[in-house]
Amino acid sequence: MQIARVALDVPLATLFDYFLAENMTVVEGQRVLVPFGRKQVVGIVLALSDTTELAPERIKAVEQVLEDVPPLPAELLKLLKFCSDYYHHPVGMTVLSALPTRLRGCQPVSLKQVLSYHLSLNGQVLDLTSLPKRKAVQLRLLTALQNNVLSTAQVRAISPTAPAALKLLIEAGWVETTAEHAKQQKFSFNEAHQLTQEQQTAVDAVNQALGYQTFLLHGITGSGKTEVYVHLLHQVLQRGGQVLLLVPEINLTPQLEYYFRSRFPDTELVSLHSGLSEGERTQNWLLAQAGQARIILGTRLAVFTPLPELALIIVDEEHDASFKQQDGLRYSARDVAIFRANGRGVPIVLGSATPSLESYYNARSGRYTLLKLGQRASALAQLPSVRCINISNALLPEGISKELLTALGECLLRGEQSLVFINRRGYAPVLMCTACGWLSDCPHCAGKMVLHLNDRRLRCHHCGYQTRVPYGCPTCGNADLQPVGIGTQRIETVLQTHFPEARVLRVDRDSTRNKGTWNAMRQQIQDEAVDILVGTQMLAKGHDFHNLTLVCVLNPDNALYSADFRASEKLFAQLAQVAGRAGRGDKPGEVLVQTSFPDHPLFRALREHDYDSWAATLLTEREQAGFPPFVFQVLLRAEGKQEEEVYNFMQQARSHAADLAMQVEIYGVVPAAMPRRANHIRVHLLVQSDTRKNLQQFVRSWRPQLEALPARNIRWSLDIDPLEF
Ligand code: ADP
Ligand code: ZN
Ligand code: ZN
Repeated sequence: MQIARVALDVPLATLFDYFLAENMTVVEGQRVLVPFGRKQVVGIVLALSDTTELAPERIKAVEQVLEDVPPLPAELLKLLKFCSDYYHHPVGMTVLSALPTRLRGCQPVSLKQVLSYHLSLNGQVLDLTSLPKRKAVQLRLLTALQNNVLSTAQVRAISPTAPAALKLLIEAGWVETTAEHAKQQKFSFNEAHQLTQEQQTAVDAVNQALGYQTFLLHGITGSGKTEVYVHLLHQVLQRGGQVLLLVPEINLTPQLEYYFRSRFPDTELVSLHSGLSEGERTQNWLLAQAGQARIILGTRLAVFTPLPELALIIVDEEHDASFKQQDGLRYSARDVAIFRANGRGVPIVLGSATPSLESYYNARSGRYTLLKLGQRASALAQLPSVRCINISNALLPEGISKELLTALGECLLRGEQSLVFINRRGYAPVLMCTACGWLSDCPHCAGKMVLHLNDRRLRCHHCGYQTRVPYGCPTCGNADLQPVGIGTQRIETVLQTHFPEARVLRVDRDSTRNKGTWNAMRQQIQDEAVDILVGTQMLAKGHDFHNLTLVCVLNPDNALYSADFRASEKLFAQLAQVAGRAGRGDKPGEVLVQTSFPDHPLFRALREHDYDSWAATLLTEREQAGFPPFVFQVLLRAEGKQEEEVYNFMQQARSHAADLAMQVEIYGVVPAAMPRRANHIRVHLLVQSDTRKNLQQFVRSWRPQLEALPARNIRWSLDIDPLEF
């Protein structure tokens, strides 16, 4: 009897055995339909065997072998098994989580025919001069179609709005489609810049890699890292390879997508991120699996895409914490990407202006190859000058100092754009009663509710709870409730009052909630229909606005006395990023930072654009304190409604850990940084070791003990290489 060992989406660390009927054939990586409990579910065959440990009468049969899409390749299965093992997450859940949702369901899916487009008879005789000039994109499409059949990729390369314009042309009967697959006829590359010497050296180094090698591309903001990627892509695409390019945020994909399309107009590019509809994501995934898509641009989940011709992986902004998933399979897409590159024997490039200390340390110690871009790429663009404004003795009821207002006013007069950066959305972080000191605590969390003045609500940013702003103090009835501190909405109001003629635009998660808003806003900024931008870290990353010359940073100081040992590393990265938005065109940029600690080494390094000395300082601190990258950590997290139960669980977990007497260091059981969230008490236990190997050995012994502990009302999880505490 042949047995299929199947991965299912259930929280158990095993595979499930099913027998195969005589006439059924199946291979590893194929999806099957099997009975589970009273349901019928989709699973993936991970192994085939002649034997099973179960009694024959307990084994059920595979109901159907799904052949709608090709099986997952062995390489991907190996990667997923590694992840399950390394991150200590159930194997079935790990494997199934890598599939687009549609492929986890029972309905068959298939790769849609790729269409190609040509002019209809009516379209051929159309007089283009008779069309109104403002239909520019339609005109460009028609012109391009006059001599050519276009693929979807080529249509998209014409303009981001080309697919919509094309639809209108089809409706008008001027353009027709053919289902016959528009095979890539030619490969073209739009050369835009002559590479600088530094860029060329970096490109050559990666191109010369013979197999797996990790490169850290450390390039200051504006040094042209994207251009290096483009040239690397060029080499790989010419050889017929596929490239996986990971970016930290969905927000960054549309602009990069368009940029790469315009550089490689005949090449099929797909994006993969959670902002796509299920149908789109499935199609893009299938295009990648079929080898038709050559450039795969995605957020962390894209690291698990099957890629038959994978030849290069690029991780942009590798230091970004968004590469780490914070629930379920708590993986770091950057680390998984490195493992994958190693398994496939292909080079991987990690790019950043402010590398994570982990990667930097690896580059310094020779495990990774360091490539440096120390100059801005465009000869005219200079790094901005950074200046601190000491506010330790200033009372700033509205959050902005006189110096900043003056600088903003001057920038406005020059007709240039400015950006005011504050990493807190809402109007004010807390509402206070001036009579009795009542504060707007969240009833369900250990945090405060944030005041949102536009819709007069108090919102908890941790659990989502919200209520109306009360008319008087809930404790003493006093009507004078005051907002304390500043958020983006408040700064927006203050600036609008000071500069009534200025066009102020706020960009944060609240103002960009609706689909498409952020794209429209970016266009507005690009078109210079905005003078002052107020925003959170959404605005800090990746954007290239040429007329932006002034960046103002408000309230960065909290991170300087945070309990999180990574807080100052993150702050430096964030400030260097946001500072890097200034002066990218031909005008010099200026960055003003409001702080009470202008002499802090962090600000000194920021002023001198000296990442290296800052990283050296941090690495010395980490080594002395015994923190990563000098040690490896696992964090046991637990939460529950009853404090006693949670602590009980954790104390038992801790004593088991101690009894194992292995080569690890075990810390005490402590409250999480947010000790209560949505009425759950949250507690941590940190264990660390000098080597990954010792840590993994320890967790392998410890985990079965944790699983055996009574934990009826407790949710717990293991977080390997944790980033948040
Ligand atoms: P980074 O990603 O390193 O911050 P970008 O790739 O966005 O930098 O490049 C910054 C700017 O420099 C862009 O406007 C880009 O078009 C330009 N640029 C890149 N490489 C060159 C080059 N070799 N010569 C001239 N300009 C360049
Ligand atoms: Zn009161
Ligand atoms: Zn809350």
